[in-house]
Amino acid sequence: MSDNPLLKIDRLIMGDVYTSTESMDNLTILCDDFGSRFGGTEGERQAAEFLVEKMKAYGLSNVHLEPVDYVGWRRGQVKLEILEPVQKEIACITLPHSPPANLEAYVVDMDDGAPNEFDERAEEISGKIVLTTSEVNPKGVKRWIHRSEKYGRSMMAGAAGFIFVNHYPAYGPATGGIGDNAEGPIPGISVAMEDGAYIQRLIKRFGAVKIRITSSDACQPMVSWNVVGELPGVKQPEKMVLMGSHYDGHDISQGAEDPASGTVAVMEAARVLAQYAGELPYTIRFVLWGIEEIGLIGSTAYVAAHPEEMDHVLFYLNMDSAGAVANKGIVLNEWAELEPRFKQWSQEMALKFGVAQSVNAHSDHYPFLMVGVPTGGMGSVGGKGFSGRGYGHTRYDTLDKVTLVNLREAAVLAARLALRIAKDENWPASRRSVETVKELLDSPEYREEVAFNSRLEAYLKGLPNS
Ligand SMILES: [Zn+2]
Repeated sequence: MSDNPLLKIDRLIMGDVYTSTESMDNLTILCDDFGSRFGGTEGERQAAEFLVEKMKAYGLSNVHLEPVDYVGWRRGQVKLEILEPVQKEIACITLPHSPPANLEAYVVDMDDGAPNEFDERAEEISGKIVLTTSEVNPKGVKRWIHRSEKYGRSMMAGAAGFIFVNHYPAYGPATGGIGDNAEGPIPGISVAMEDGAYIQRLIKRFGAVKIRITSSDACQPMVSWNVVGELPGVKQPEKMVLMGSHYDGHDISQGAEDPASGTVAVMEAARVLAQYAGELPYTIRFVLWGIEEIGLIGSTAYVAAHPEEMDHVLFYLNMDSAGAVANKGIVLNEWAELEPRFKQWSQEMALKFGVAQSVNAHSDHYPFLMVGVPTGGMGSVGGKGFSGRGYGHTRYDTLDKVTLVNLREAAVLAARLALRIAKDENWPASRRSVETVKELLDSPEYREEVAFNSRLEAYLKGLPNS
């Protein structure tokens, strides 16, 4: 056996994780006792307090809650009625940040929602309700087309409302936020694949389908919390590795895979590192984010509140849903200089894991990425293609879908990597300038999404009540 001192710690960490059920015990409490932990629920507050108590029990330092003020949303009643050519009520849910609605209009079928078609068919869309599926690669478009892009493009084309159709059968409607920490300008609802397909068939057969959407949702000011704890470094404590996952799920779900499998993997990494990692030169800080699901609000607030820390963050490892993904690897957000380091560690750790490079805007790494901090996330690398969320964002994202072995794998990989970064005195990445971040996003791959985001921002600013 090797005398590498890191491997000695690895053995202790792994021995502990693989002989403990702590991660599944925590997941059970988060899901079965606190429910969705959606922003504004009692379970959210209970979860934040529970995570604080656990961090203290694990021996972390500087454990505290950081409050975040934001525009919250409460689900009310909703009704979707087909008025023409048949009369029928269809089961649906509203999407978080949807405004209250009392709307009658014809439906325009945008099918999977290829981004270019919204502008091309703007005349047809204007004044109607867009129906589009949750397919993330419509018509072979390579980049991930997010719900918020389909909603934004519908709105900018003059749509009066938005129907999001789950593209998986038998999962019911898929939820997801539509406002950017504010009430969305047009109503958004979601229906099951089967109901969406029925409406599409009616349009094909009869040419026009008129519907009515009535809902009583409400936006209001709320407070959430980021949960923070750390293992302070002894040499240069201001330098730190950050590891995090959000803990809020969607209100229709337990959010067991997304995000809680990642939340408890972070907690498990914290528990074992606190016991076995000894005195580290640099700090490892663990942060569990509030209200990611309705717009990355907790992590965005953290980055804004701690500008002085950003130069010193060696790496932010995002663990959203990490205890649910197969073929776990590290997806770096275009940090070529870090790839050899992770590959070398994979050898040293005798653990085969993939390292990939990509950029996306849809989890808590993004606010850090945008200010230049080296970032990446635990995700599926080198396995079979992944075409969406599966159970995620549906009411079926429940505890029974998660396995202890998967939680253990996530916790151990995160802990071993954080340990190495926190001891690496020649860490090859440092913060990017704002210009470099801009240049990175100005590649052909990301240009379309960036252009869309700035167009949407300008559009929202131009609306009368913003
Ligand atoms: Zn998530």
